Amino acid sequence: MLIVMEKTATPDQIKAVEAAVTARGYEARPIPGGERISIGVLRNKGAVDASLFLGLGGVKDVIPVTRPYKLVSRETRSEDTVVRVGDVAIGNGNMTIIAGPCAIESEAQALTIARHVKDAGAHMFRGGAFKPRTSPYSFQGLGQEGLEILAKVRHETGLPVVTEVMDMATFDQVESYADMIQIGTRNMQNFSLLRRAGRSPRPVILKRGMAATIDEWLWSAEYVLAEGNDKIVMCERGIRTFENSTQNTLDISAVPVVQARSHLPVIVDVTHSGGRRDLLVPLTKAGLATGADGIMIEVHPNPKEALVDGAQSLTPEDFADLMQSLKPIAAAVGRSV
Ligand code: PEP
Ligand code: MN
Repeated sequence: MLIVMEKTATPDQIKAVEAAVTARGYEARPIPGGERISIGVLRNKGAVDASLFLGLGGVKDVIPVTRPYKLVSRETRSEDTVVRVGDVAIGNGNMTIIAGPCAIESEAQALTIARHVKDAGAHMFRGGAFKPRTSPYSFQGLGQEGLEILAKVRHETGLPVVTEVMDMATFDQVESYADMIQIGTRNMQNFSLLRRAGRSPRPVILKRGMAATIDEWLWSAEYVLAEGNDKIVMCERGIRTFENSTQNTLDISAVPVVQARSHLPVIVDVTHSGGRRDLLVPLTKAGLATGADGIMIEVHPNPKEALVDGAQSLTPEDFADLMQSLKPIAAAVGRSV
């Protein structure tokens, strides 16, 4: 349930409503909006009696929230959330392009790619320092050295950097270097990690679990938001289906479904969706035309030599061509890139 306050509600009236909510054994969560404040009622087991709050001073309306998750729900906040990462605003009607290698391999590799993608128009740089690999014998990332390289990339190019955090043990370490933290598909339901991300000052990219429904994914976002961090960007990255022509199946309909159910921005990771270089351009165009708030894409100067995911990375030259080809599509759907 959401208690919507009048625009003119005083701080004392807001406090009185919060006290009335907690007196019933519920949690009161103030949700500031553009013009007025609303108070979310959390931790109720069944339906809450609206008449308990309707008569209180400063209360405009009481709205039942029909979705089980509350804070991430569009019913709780009708305006789109804009997530700011440095100077980049994700979800404000622009198309945010996040590009970089799958894994940071060396300073030269990272800086070369970062300079190229920046010149081509990318807004943020990505690169893994801690890599979740299927095989324990595969390259696991440079760890601390990778984080230091990411800091150098930010310093040299001005691009904000996003990198994955894999576990609680390395959370503080990753958080102290990254401008934005990524929670990967394999950790979408790692609830202690989600809670920790919710207590972080950093914005978070939350990838969809490869076998998660959209509602399960939104529940995971609720874990982060429930701890206080509302700087969440949802990232569709393909799901497991019976189709084996691609690594995963890009669920393009997840973009409008999440946008209808939630106020959080949604981006599309085209690299891990298809797992094939020839699909990167069409999937990027599809994401853009569907109204995604951004794209994540892997770029490598020498994909054949890449330590991770070379077969699904673009060269810097192809990335620059892609960026040019997106402009008319963005214009056609009233966005800019
Ligand atoms: C990645 O972005 O590097 C990654 C491992 O993605 P995912 O968690 O979607 O597989
Ligand atoms: Mn990858």
